[in-house]
Amino acid sequence: MINAWATQAIEKLDEERRRARVTPLLEFPLPEEWGVRLLLKDESAQPEGGLKLRLARALFRDAIAAGRIRADTTVVEATGGAMAAAQAYLARLLGLPYVAVMPKKASGADVERLGGTCRYVHPPLAIYDEARELAERLGGHYVDHYTAAASVDWRGGSLAEELFGQLGACPHWVVVGAGTGATSAALGRHLRGRGLPGRLAVADPENSAYFPGWAYDAADYSTGMPSRIEGVGRPRLEPAFAADVVDLVVPVPDAASVAAARRLRAATGLAVGPASGTNLWGALELAARMRAEGVRGDVVAVIGEAHPRHLRACHDDAWAEGRGLDWRPHAARLADVLDRGAPW
Ligand SMILES: *Cc1c(COP(=O)(O)O)cnc(C)c1O
Repeated sequence: MINAWATQAIEKLDEERRRARVTPLLEFPLPEEWGVRLLLKDESAQPEGGLKLRLARALFRDAIAAGRIRADTTVVEATGGAMAAAQAYLARLLGLPYVAVMPKKASGADVERLGGTCRYVHPPLAIYDEARELAERLGGHYVDHYTAAASVDWRGGSLAEELFGQLGACPHWVVVGAGTGATSAALGRHLRGRGLPGRLAVADPENSAYFPGWAYDAADYSTGMPSRIEGVGRPRLEPAFAADVVDLVVPVPDAASVAAARRLRAATGLAVGPASGTNLWGALELAARMRAEGVRGDVVAVIGEAHPRHLRACHDDAWAEGRGLDWRPHAARLADVLDRGAPW
């Protein structure tokens, strides 16, 4: 039996979802002679956390419906990225205490601004055990989005429903990155489930297991290396990743993700994070392939989150240089291809 608090909490989440409205489709300018249109599904227009908010909403909804989050439950998560801000935002909406366990180097400013608490842990991989133990000690709920994403109920919040409702004709390619893999799985299932002709590509950064795991059909592939591109790329294939609905995985060099994020900011004014650059680079590669093959049509890339903190990260020369991410040759290639008509 679902209690009165739970009913009210789910109503609040649904109302928040309705207020968030539909995120826009922006056109990324391509040379006209390509005959290809590149559209950006701008999830940065969502409230806190951008793209992460959809998954966070669905996870909160599931946990409330199952009685794992109740009126006084402390919600705990292990992440330093935009997912923590998305969850802190929802916890505040529902009046729940929230704790994000994050690596020492992460910034908890957004979580704190939203009324949550941060606990910094070293080494970075210790965040998962610490979050689990903390939730146990507090009688709280450990969200564990990488695991929970595999069984999420997308009712009323799926990016796929919204995106395909907005588009006229089905695009030739839809391009997105994979962190938990949940977004790509929802898009791929939508395409396959409705027999749509569009194909799904996952853009994948260095050190990630998604590209080799998909290419070798090896579900247990592990790189043992963290991704340098916040939000996408994982050392192992996470349970929500649905390899069977992915038509192509495009590996993207990390420095190219940085170059593309900068180009995206120049084109739209949005201070996007590097994961949006990964997705844009993958989309440009596929658009260029269509151009070379004389195929006309649309490519849609999902872009995630825009935040001033990215100005001090991937949009900052010293930051990128400090990490050995030489974006300049990739930026020069983008300029050759997009501004001077060179082939990809
Ligand atoms: C987080 C993020 C993803 C990955 O989403 P998942 O559903 O966790 O796989 C993809 N693209 C961008 C821009 C992101 O920020």
